[in-house]
Amino acid sequence: MTDISRDSSATRARWQTCLKLARELLLVGPDGKDLKLDYLHTLIDTGRLGPTHHPRKKILVIGAGITGLVAGRLLKDAGHDVTILEANASRVGGRVKTFRATKHHQPFDDPAQYAEAGAMRLPDFHPLVLALVDKLGLGRRQFYNVDVDPGTGSGPDVPVPPVTYSSFTGRTWTYGDDSPDFREPDKRGNSWIRTNRVQVRRADYTAGPERINEGFHLTGDEVRAPVVKMVDDALETVRDYYSDLVDGRRVNKPFEEWIEGWARVIRDFDGYSMGGFLRDHAGLSDEAIEAVGTLENMSSRLHLSFFHSFLSRSDINPGVRYWEIPGGSRRLPHALHQGLRDEVRLGHRMIRLEYHDPSRDTDPEGTGAVGPDGWGVAVQTVAENDPQAPPRLWTADLAIVTVPFSALRFVEIVPSMSYKKRRAVIETHYDQATKVLLEFSRRWW
Ligand SMILES: Cc1cc2nc3c(=O)[nH]c(=O)nc-3n(C[C@H](O)[C@H](O)[C@H](O)COP(=O)(O)OP(=O)(O)OC[C@H]3O[C@@H](n4cnc5c(N)ncnc54)[C@H](O)[C@@H]3O)c2cc1C
Repeated sequence: MTDISRDSSATRARWQTCLKLARELLLVGPDGKDLKLDYLHTLIDTGRLGPTHHPRKKILVIGAGITGLVAGRLLKDAGHDVTILEANASRVGGRVKTFRATKHHQPFDDPAQYAEAGAMRLPDFHPLVLALVDKLGLGRRQFYNVDVDPGTGSGPDVPVPPVTYSSFTGRTWTYGDDSPDFREPDKRGNSWIRTNRVQVRRADYTAGPERINEGFHLTGDEVRAPVVKMVDDALETVRDYYSDLVDGRRVNKPFEEWIEGWARVIRDFDGYSMGGFLRDHAGLSDEAIEAVGTLENMSSRLHLSFFHSFLSRSDINPGVRYWEIPGGSRRLPHALHQGLRDEVRLGHRMIRLEYHDPSRDTDPEGTGAVGPDGWGVAVQTVAENDPQAPPRLWTADLAIVTVPFSALRFVEIVPSMSYKKRRAVIETHYDQATKVLLEFSRRWW
C-alpha cells in the first residue's frame, strides 16, 4: 500500500522546490522584486554598489574571467581592498578569448583577422553585458547566425539602437539613444544543407522539405514538415505553460501564473533528455529525431537535459538579434582589466580554500589563519609557471569564487560544502566545444 500522507508531503516539498528554482531562474527576488533591474541599476546606472554600512573589507576574488573582473571592479569602486587571483599566467578573460596578432604570435596570414575561441555573440536578452559594452565605449555591431543580404539594412554608419529590458514589473529600462534609422538586413537562407547525397539551400528546404526528409526515411505528415517546425511546435506546448501566443508573439502570463508555469515546466520535464522529450512527449518518430539531430545541429545534445536545451534553444535561434564587439570579445575583459592592474595577480592557481564557519569546529588540519579571532578565509595557491615555487597563502575577510565547477572540482575546500553542493560541483555537465577556423585569401562567397 502507498503511504498517501508521505507521498503528498513529498509532492508538496517538490513543488516548493520547483517554485523556488523558477524564482531563481527568473531572477525574482523577495516581494516580487526584479533582481535584473537591480543589477542594471548597480552595474550600469550608478556603476557602483549601493550605500553600505559595512566597513571596508579585504576581499579575494578567485578567477579573472568576466565575472571576477566585474565583481572586482564593483567592490574596488565601493572602497574595498580587493585582490583577484587568476590561474592563467598570461591573460585575463577566461572563456572570453580572441585569437589575434600579438607581438609574439600571428595566427593568421592577414594580420587584420581575428577569431573567437569562446564567447562571440551577445543576444538582446543579455542587457547587462550589452549595456556594459556600451558604457565602456567598446562599440557594438550586429552578429549574424544566418546569411543576410548585404545590400539591405541601414549599414555601419547608422548608430545601433539602445539596450532595452522589459521587466515583468511592467517597467522598461533603456540605455543609449534612440536610432530611428537603424534597419536590420534581410535574411536569405542561402546556406547549403547536404545530407544523404541531397543538397539544397536552407530556404528551399523550408519551402519543400520532402527530398531531404525522405533521405531520413520520414513518412506520413513528418515528411512534409521542416524539422525545425517539428521542434518548434513541440516546444510551443511547453511555452504555453507560462506564456500566451498573442498576434504571433509570446506574451508572459500574469505574474503568479508565469512563475507557476515555469515551476510546472521544471516539475514536468526535469527528468527528460531532449531526445526523450521529442520521442515521448512530442511523439516524433526515431527517424524524425535523427533528422532533427543532423539538420538542427543537435545530435550531440539529444541525450542531455531537456531543460538546458529548451533554454538555449529558445535563446540561440535565428529569430533572436545578436551583437558583437568589433575587434574581438577580448576587448571587454581587457577594458575591465585596465582599472584593476594592481588588483589582478596572474599565475596563481587556487588549490585549497579554507573558510570560517561559526557553526562548525575549527579544522584541526587547517592553516590556523582562519577562525573566530582570525581571518574569514585563507586561500592557498600554486604558481602556474613555476612548479618548484612553494604554495602561497592569501588571507582575507571573504572570498568570491568565480571559477567554473569543472575547475572547482580540483580545489580542496575546508570545511567541505554540504553534500548537495558537492554533488552539484562534481556532477554539473560541461559541454565539449571545438572550433575550426578557416582563413581564405579572398572572399569567394
Ligand atoms: C566555446 C565557447 C563559446 C561561448 N560563446 C558564448 C557566446 O557567444 N555568448 C555568450 O554570452 N557566452 C558564450 N560563452 C559563455 C561565456 O564565455 C561564459 O559564460 C563566460 O565567459 C564565463 O565567465 P566567468 O568569469 O564566469 O568564467 P570563466 O571565463 O571561466 O573565468 C574563470 C576564470 O577562473 C580562472 N580559474 C580557473 N580555475 C582557477 C583556480 N583554481 N584558481 C584561480 N583561477 C582559476 C580561469 O583561468 C578563468 O580565467 C561561450 C563559452 C565557450 C567556452
